[in-house]
Parts: sequence; structure tokens; C-alpha cells
Amino acid sequence: MTTPLDLHGWRHVYSGKVRDLYVPAETPESARPARMLVVASDRVSAFDHVLAPGITEKGVLLTTLSLWWFDQLAGADGGRGIPNHLAASHVLTRGEDGLANTADDLKSLIPDAVVGRAMVVKSLGMQPIECVVRGYLTGSGWAEYRESGTVCGIPLPTGLDNGDRLPEPIYTPAWKAPMGQHDENIPYERTVELVGADRAAELRDLSLEIYRRAAATAERHGVILADTKFEFGLDDDGVMTLADEVLTSDSSRYWDAAAWASGTTPEERMASFDKQIVRDWLAAHWDKQGEPPALPAEIVERTAARYRELLDRLTAA
Ligand code: ATP
Ligand code: MG
Repeated sequence: MTTPLDLHGWRHVYSGKVRDLYVPAETPESARPARMLVVASDRVSAFDHVLAPGITEKGVLLTTLSLWWFDQLAGADGGRGIPNHLAASHVLTRGEDGLANTADDLKSLIPDAVVGRAMVVKSLGMQPIECVVRGYLTGSGWAEYRESGTVCGIPLPTGLDNGDRLPEPIYTPAWKAPMGQHDENIPYERTVELVGADRAAELRDLSLEIYRRAAATAERHGVILADTKFEFGLDDDGVMTLADEVLTSDSSRYWDAAAWASGTTPEERMASFDKQIVRDWLAAHWDKQGEPPALPAEIVERTAARYRELLDRLTAA
């Protein structure tokens, strides 16, 4: 599927659908390293398949957006500092082309070949839960609501439409399935069985807090954060730490707030800054049997442009 890069000082250990993980080359095979290099590729996945071709510069845009959000959540947005997995400060600079991630102070750690698309992070004990928060009704949530009036088993008021705002954001965790298996929605009680009552409550409360703060920030920039997914891990001191990518257009649904307010059809209301463009094209051109077809250049370009626009909008001064 992917050929790991030969990165000086680092050894490849894992490739997910989108990211490649490396550990310091001197790390013994079975030891957990203190640090890892997370490299975001341009790969795009939908319906659990990695598609071809990739989205130009997607890895750089997602990494830059993650770094910006980590900084907001560390307190730049005025809230309390949320611990994150960055092992060193990553430098964001604003140039003529908008925000860029130059990683200046990490030159010695981040190989040239992946500057801009890599983060040096603490290696955490990852929690086996995908912490999903939904502020709006759409996607699989909308499909379930139409059937049963619930989303992941949580009852909601009647009369809601596709794309509507929920009365309160809801926490709908999923079990993070091992490689190759589907993630599975689970009730809150199951997360208590998996990680214990205290940690389960901590994951839920942190997720809802981060969603609320991020949604408020996005709203100030004319963007709706419809839903998102967080991953957390425990650091060596047992501190619950925000990991992985955060609030990117891969892990979240983002819509244009003006279009949402004035639109009349679901398509007009949910003008997305995420890979919905890819999902929609694929749903119309593939019956989910066999290998998915190649994405046309026009879809790749439109998606890249929307990812870039989201970054520009959110990070505009
Ligand atoms: P998917 O494509 O569904 O997201 P995935 O999550 O397995 O699949 P990637 O997101 O491409 O794949 O890879 C990132 C991997 O790194 C994830 O398994 C994630 O849990 C893990 N990870 C992220 N941050 C850390 C960290 N600080 N310590 C340890 N593992 C981490
Ligand atoms: Mg992932």
C-alpha cells in the first residue's frame, strides 16, 4: 500500500491509512520509545479504503492545522491548557501564502524529506477509544435518527432534519478496532468496562470541553464544526494527553456557516471543508465492491482547495 521513507535517524514501525509512524533508529525492537515521528501522507481514505491518487499537500495542511489547534487548546484560545502529545514546540509562521509549519527548531530531528508534514510526539499508551463528539445531525447519525430517533442509542428530540444543530453536543464513543477491522460504536457503559469509570468520565468530559471550545473558535471564523473525533493516550506520569491529529478536516466535519444559515437543501446547508466531496463522488461512482476507482483530477483539486481554505479561514488573524 505504501512504501515507508528511508528517514535518517528514524525507523519505520507502522503505517495507518493516512499516517506513517517512525521511532528513533536506536530503539530496541520490543522497547517503547520515548518519542515518535508521525508523518502525515497525502493519502486519502473513504469507506475504509485508501484511494488513488492522493490529495496534493494534504499531509502538510493537516499537520499545520493540527499544530495550530494544539496551540489553541494549550491556552491560546483563552481556555485552560489541554496536555498534548507534542514532544517539542513546532514553529508555525505566517508568510504570503498563509500559515506554514516550518519546524525550524526541530531541523535536527525532522528529516528534510518530511518537514512540514511531520510531528515529533511523546509515545503514549493509547486508549482504545475513539472519542467522537457530535454537535450536528448528519452522516450515520442522521441515518440512525431517521430509523429510530436516536444517535448511537442516545434519544434526541423529534422533528430534527439532516444537518440540524443538536440541542447539546453529544459524546458517542467508538471502540478503536485493531488494524483491518471496523471501528464499532459503543455505549458509554462499555467505555467504563474498557478503561474504568474514572478514565471513561475523563475522556468524555475532555472531549466535550475540547469540542465546545473548538466549535466556538470555528464559529468566530464563519465555520461550523459539525462533529469530530479525538484520540487520547496516557503519558509516563499517567496524564491523559490529547494525541494523534486533532480537529483536522480528516477527523472532523466542517461546514461553511453562511451557507448553512441560508441554504435550503442539505447539499447547500452542508458546504463542507472536509473529504465529504470525496465520499459523495465515490458513493455515486462505486458500488463498494472490489477496488475503488481512481479519483478524477477535478475532485482531487476541489478537495485540496477546500482543505487549504479551511486552514486559511480558521487561522486568519
Ligand atoms: P485510520 O486511518 O482509521 O485513522 P489509524 O488510526 O490506524 O487508521 P493513522 O491515523 O494513519 O491510522 O495512524 C496514526 C496512528 O498513530 C494511530 O493508530 C494512532 O492511534 C497512533 N498515535 C497517534 N498519536 C500517538 C502517540 N502520541 N503515541 C502513540 N500512538 C499514537
Ligand atoms: Mg487515525
